[in-house]
Amino acid sequence: MLIDSFGRVIDYIRISVTKNCNFRCKYCMPNTPDEIAEDLIPLDKMLEFLKIAMDYGVKKIRITGGEPLLRKDLSSFVKGIYDYKNDIEVALTTNGYFLKKYAKELKDSGLKRINVSLDSLKKEKIELISKKDALDFVLEGLQEAKAVNLKIKLNMVPLKGINDDEIVPMLEFANKENFLLRYIEYMENDFASNRIKGLKSFEILENIKKKYNISMIQKEAFGPAKLYKLDNTDNVFGIIAPHNDEFCASCNRIRITAEGIICPCLYFQDAIDVSQAIRNDDKKAMKEALLSAIKNKPEKNKWGEGETSTRAFYHTGG
Ligand code: SAM
Ligand code: SF4
Repeated sequence: MLIDSFGRVIDYIRISVTKNCNFRCKYCMPNTPDEIAEDLIPLDKMLEFLKIAMDYGVKKIRITGGEPLLRKDLSSFVKGIYDYKNDIEVALTTNGYFLKKYAKELKDSGLKRINVSLDSLKKEKIELISKKDALDFVLEGLQEAKAVNLKIKLNMVPLKGINDDEIVPMLEFANKENFLLRYIEYMENDFASNRIKGLKSFEILENIKKKYNISMIQKEAFGPAKLYKLDNTDNVFGIIAPHNDEFCASCNRIRITAEGIICPCLYFQDAIDVSQAIRNDDKKAMKEALLSAIKNKPEKNKWGEGETSTRAFYHTGG
């Protein structure tokens, strides 16, 4: 079992499989060039690192990016994880653009759940936020994923004056489709547009309370969200609020980038380069790097101190 210096059990790894993306979301990478050079580690080599982590008790792996569905061999990677440990929880976070094409083969590879980022139900708003006329593709992808029985969560980042008028419509859409909607507080970082401002969790809740009575029910079993229920219904939604202290107290995860850098905390600069060990299939060095990352995991992220992350989300995978 992996236990960090603050007694937290680390049983979750998020793996970013590319920095590249076909969107340019305002809060993530609005000004990066079309193609970012990267020294990608082949996924079959990454799998060997994940096997070591699974041997140490990692129970959940999330594949993210950049846009993970830009990596062509993703389904065989997912299958390789399940072939090693069939009770592992594997999930994927995607912008949904290529989901129509890949949902079935991902499901056939063993994947059970996906998170799709969707910030609006308006075509022009999606284009404003992501610089891509993508809404129809994402909605079709969602329907395909639903048809092949993938469990679906939606991620929305509410931004002041941009999509905050859709907090309730998004919730109603998610409820109708049987998707779990999670609102994510905007996390300040140096790569985002400097003209945006996110809503904090209390503002999101105030917005919903204008129409619905709600009660907090619990923390998500496998995620960082606090869950709320619309009174007298079965409809649930979540809020991910990294600016709150308790977010870090229950942190159970580390991250590894597509180039083999382990990040013990989303917003903390410390990182461990395990790329050579992975490329050389040096299992001893991979183990040492993993244990060192756990030992050096900081107690808290720095958003509570009002700082802005200098590390890009499209690099760490969010
Ligand atoms: N491209 C995929 C996607 O958008 O779902 C996966 C990678 S993206 C970096 C992972 C998640 O991070 C998405 O749900 C996205 O909305 C979220 N994200 C990115 N930048 C963020 C920021 N500055 N604040 C809050 N969430 C952010
Ligand atoms: Fe791409 Fe996801 Fe970042 Fe948007 S949030 S630019 S879809 S990596």
